[in-house]
Amino acid sequence: MSTISHMQQELQLLEEHSNLRRLPRMVHDGRDVIVDGKRMLNLSSNDYLGLASDRALREEFLRTLTPDTFLPTSSSSRLLTGNFTVYEELEAELAHLFGTEAALVFNSGYHANTGILPAVSDAQTLILADKLVHASLIDGIRLSAAKCIRYRHNDLAQLERLLKEHHSAFRQIIIVTESIFSMDGDQANLPALTELKRRYGNVLLYVDEAHAFGVRGRQGLGCAEESGCTGDIDFLVGTFGKAAASAGAYIVCRKVIREYLVNRMRTLIFTTGLPPVNIAWTLFVVRRLADMRERREHLAHISRTLREALQAQGYTCPGASHIVPMIIGQSADAVLKAEALQRHGFYALPVRPPTVPEGTSRIRFSLTADIRQEEIEELKKRTENLK
Ligand SMILES: *Cc1c(COP(=O)(O)O)cnc(C)c1O
Repeated sequence: MSTISHMQQELQLLEEHSNLRRLPRMVHDGRDVIVDGKRMLNLSSNDYLGLASDRALREEFLRTLTPDTFLPTSSSSRLLTGNFTVYEELEAELAHLFGTEAALVFNSGYHANTGILPAVSDAQTLILADKLVHASLIDGIRLSAAKCIRYRHNDLAQLERLLKEHHSAFRQIIIVTESIFSMDGDQANLPALTELKRRYGNVLLYVDEAHAFGVRGRQGLGCAEESGCTGDIDFLVGTFGKAAASAGAYIVCRKVIREYLVNRMRTLIFTTGLPPVNIAWTLFVVRRLADMRERREHLAHISRTLREALQAQGYTCPGASHIVPMIIGQSADAVLKAEALQRHGFYALPVRPPTVPEGTSRIRFSLTADIRQEEIEELKKRTENLK
């Protein structure tokens, strides 16, 4: 069979199983999206603090710019001529906020996760990764020379057994987890992980805070700040594309790790640095995160309201974060129910295999701090009527 007809056949199979993906066409207007001419409240955004839809904040930032400071490109890798002062300001600010020796900024979370693990691993490395870590971490593991074992989601007893069994056979073991998990919205027990790691001299901890940076902790630095274990995490990674309303990612770490990454990390070395204007916007937002406490509290409140209502309606809704999954089961059913919500002005999306396991298709509500309590009340009525 020719390549093309093979592709056509595969796509048709996806279509038949309600698993075919398309790039949605939409227009954005603040908190709303307009799809096929229909205006809906966006319940699927990662703009967790509502900063991307905050026009006043953008105006304030624009006033800081002049044609001399609006720099839309870095024109080079940071290792060559692309390293502008604003990069170092952002890194100094991050290290200061987290209280770490160093910080390093990357083009995206995908770059961070596919670059760090291959850089720091060799064939004498064992990676122990949570079963549900993000695809970018899986790809980083695949690109590395390390041996990898996945442990059951948040199963620290299994992780402990694996550490005991393997620690003496490897030069180093790296435990890899997220803090808040993308699809279930539940959380890793960071204090317990740091406690496990401390029992061995050769175990390092890698935590991806993509969904927690900006959202958790008194200063909005994430779950590590919230649980007081920033200093025990060797690779503390987060992204700017979600709550920080920008693009890019960071690691906060020891100086020696930063220097090692600068020398070894291919997704840092062989790519054009993000535009300085983008880094300036990230810095502008990061400096304001500590003051966003009310937004964080409101987000926690509406998330709790929605989760408890869905549970009372009989749905399984794991986790305790602003990511509220409503588990439905079959893909076709999840699609129909999401469409019903959309008809009522709520832009909620179905998540299907292979993103989640077969039989656990769901509607994934991803709440943001600019959603109002009344809107959650209205949504509760609509989900009740779906049954
Ligand atoms: C979104 C996400 C990423 C990818 O970050 P980008 O900056 O969008 O590339 C990585 N890890 C997790 C857990 C994420 O949710």
